Parts: sequence; structure tokens; C-alpha cells
Amino acid sequence: MGKSGKKLKNIKYSNYKVVIDSLRHHENQAIKEIVTDVGLSNTAISKIISNLTEKGIIKSIGKGTSTDEGGKRPMLFSINPDFCFCLVVLIRLDGIYGCVFDLSMKQRYMAVEKIPLESYDGCVSSTAGLIRQTLKDSGISTGQLCGIMIGFPGLVSFEKGTVVYPICSPQWGTDLHICKDIQEQLPLDIPVFVENSGRLAGYSELLNWTEARTETVVCIGHDSREELSGAGGCVIVQGKLMQSKGNVGEFGHMTVDANDKEQCRCGRYGCFESTTSVQRMLSKGREEMALHPESRLNDRGNEKLHPWHIFSAANDGDSFARELLEPVIKNFVIVINNIILAYDPDRISIFGAYSQAGSYFISEIRERVFRYFKNPETKIEYNQMDYQEMEKQGAALLVFNDYLAQDEIYS
Ligand SMILES: [Zn+2]
Repeated sequence: MGKSGKKLKNIKYSNYKVVIDSLRHHENQAIKEIVTDVGLSNTAISKIISNLTEKGIIKSIGKGTSTDEGGKRPMLFSINPDFCFCLVVLIRLDGIYGCVFDLSMKQRYMAVEKIPLESYDGCVSSTAGLIRQTLKDSGISTGQLCGIMIGFPGLVSFEKGTVVYPICSPQWGTDLHICKDIQEQLPLDIPVFVENSGRLAGYSELLNWTEARTETVVCIGHDSREELSGAGGCVIVQGKLMQSKGNVGEFGHMTVDANDKEQCRCGRYGCFESTTSVQRMLSKGREEMALHPESRLNDRGNEKLHPWHIFSAANDGDSFARELLEPVIKNFVIVINNIILAYDPDRISIFGAYSQAGSYFISEIRERVFRYFKNPETKIEYNQMDYQEMEKQGAALLVFNDYLAQDEIYS
């Protein structure tokens, strides 16, 4: 079960972890390049590299080309992908996905089971079944597996290994000990974790944004698939995911319009998730399209309206498309204002559905947010990676980071 905030006791091993992170960001590095990236002495890095190679966590992959005139060709190093593996299981409304990742963060195998998530017990046994099947078919032995992460779209406590509230299946009840229940059905001596889908997606920022290791980054976004567009995110402080009791980062359920008439899946009214959902924008577009004959959204006909058409028309100045985006922009501005006041982040990263919205959307958000903040140092940027890819990678990274935070691995 989740042991949140695992920390290396021996301070020297935290440098080992920094070297592994550096190799994850830049494959095939020479010692000199790692020294520049990490900022430790040549002697220190050489010693760490030699120890990590001896343990099998990294490996030398031959000589690179020389950078100096007539100089020696430097030995290159990379993470040993086969050192250990993790299994990521995403429980979604449309099915359960099982994927195997190696230590270099490459996906080695994926299995999908399309089952309706009717009962909690059914979900647990299908998940356990998919885990067994994925392990068998991928050829990974349990001895090579360092952890299993369940990504779940609802309120989750990583620390307790529980689903606090399954927002998409409220009939399951509350406080479900999903890690323990799955572990009992396996049974394998491998840690099983659970974390919220949006928080996992945001955590993948650490893989693609080197600065996230030292900054405060807040990620916020919507699941890209139209039918599932829940909203969420996470807060990362100096490389560490804030998990707390499970509520931090649940930006989808911040109230942005207390007078909104539509009830959110969580039971509240006027949540960021319900008022900015892609479905709501599209249905308003389909309903009101005929009232705006000048809009180019009419060119494609009612049924074929896609978010991309709205984004593109808004970027070209189409006033009806901009009107459709307006409530989304307005509510993003409210949430981002509140995020800045609560966390004062270095960077806010918008991922998922609206990361494809282009220049009009983001420049409106920046302009309106910074109208009131007189020290506009926070960057507001898009992360345009595929949502599901982000979720899988964030999940794998969290398992590996937890595993690599144990002194025994290096001693
Ligand atoms: Zn809500």
C-alpha cells in the first residue's frame, strides 16, 4: 500500500537519484555532460556512475564521438531499461488498461479489457485478472516488477491506498480499500498503489520539463476524450507531488459559478469541471449554430462540430466561436487566479483538451489573469502531450520514484 513521501535516509543516495533523473532526461550521456547537468564534481559523478553500473541500474553503451580536437572518445551511459519494470493499470469508464513500463520509461506491453464498471467487486476482480494476464503475456516475471499503480478517476488517498469517493460510480460507496482488495486477489508480494488520474497525468510534467524538479508547478487540464471530460490536475513542489489527504489538485471541483444550474458529478453546482466541459461547449455550439449564420462553424454542419473547429475559428476571429469559448476562458481565469493566490507557482501548465486551443485562448487567459497580479512572473503554458500518455507515464514515474527512494537499492 502507499507509503507517501518515502525518502532516502542516506543523503549521499539522493545524488544517485539526481543522476538517474538526468539520464532519464538525456539518454546516452557522457560523464562530462552529467557533470554539467547535475552540478556535482567530476570525481563525485564518476563514483556514482561506477556504483550505479555495478548495481545494474545504469549501463555503459559504448563510446560516443569526441567533442575535443584529437581527444579521447568518452564512454556513454544510459539507464538499464531491464533493471526493473512497473505495471500501470488505468481504470476508466470505457475499460481497464494494463501497461508494462521499463525503467527507461518505455512502454513494453499493453492490454485492454473493455468491461462495464458496474460493481466495485467486479472492478476489483477484473483489475486483478488483467494484472495477472498482463504479467503472463508480457513475459515479465514478478521478481522483475517493482510496483503496480492503479490510476483511478475519483477522489483517491494515495497514503491510505483507498478510493475515498468514486465520482463516476457513486453507488460503490466511499472509503474503498482498493489496493488491499486487489492485492488479496493476486496475491503477489509487490506494492500496489492507487492515485487519481488527473494527478498522475500532471505528474508526467517532471519527465518533459526539467525545471519542474526545482520549481513549483501546478498542472490543470481536462481528459481529452469528449465523453469523459473530467477535469483535474496536481501540484508539484521541487519535484515532489503534493498528495496530502487526496484533495489537493482536484481543481475540477473548485466552485467557479455558484449560480450555475447544472449539477456536477460530485454533487455540487458550478464546478470548474462541469462549467468548462467540452460536452457543454459542443452542445451549446450545436444548439445555437443556426442563430449565427455568419459563423464558419456552420460550414461543417451540426453533427460534425468538433472542439478543434471551435478553437481554429476562434483563433481566426470568428465571434460565435469566441462566444462558445468565453465561459471556458472566464472559468479558467477564476481557477488560475485562485491557484496563484494559493501556491504562487513558477509555472501553470494547461494539459488535455484545451491544450489544443491555440493562441486566442491562452493569450486571453494570460491577459485577464495578469490584469490584477502586478508581478506577472508565473508562466502559463500549454502541455500538448496526449492525455492518456501523460497519465500512463506519470503513473510509471511515480512507481519508479517510490522504488528508487530506498537506500537498500544503492547500498
Ligand atoms: Zn464537481
